[in-house]
Amino acid sequence: MSRPRRPECPRCGAKALEILWGYPDGPPKEGFTTGGCIYNPATDPDFVCPECDHEWRDDEFDTYEAMDKS
Ligand SMILES: [Zn+2]
Repeated sequence: MSRPRRPECPRCGAKALEILWGYPDGPPKEGFTTGGCIYNPATDPDFVCPECDHEWRDDEFDTYEAMDKS
């Protein structure tokens, strides 16, 4: 199973930026942004919307997808 690495924002539908945690090698590539040096997998988001600043996690996105289909 593969899923798009850049989902659309659940709120406004804009292409998400994937948040890179830790220390990046250089400036983030297109489609990515940096989140910080310490990643807490329990609370930190995986994606952020460049349009409305909504942040969400992969599991929340999956939940949103599941809800959308039902
Ligand atoms: Zn958005």
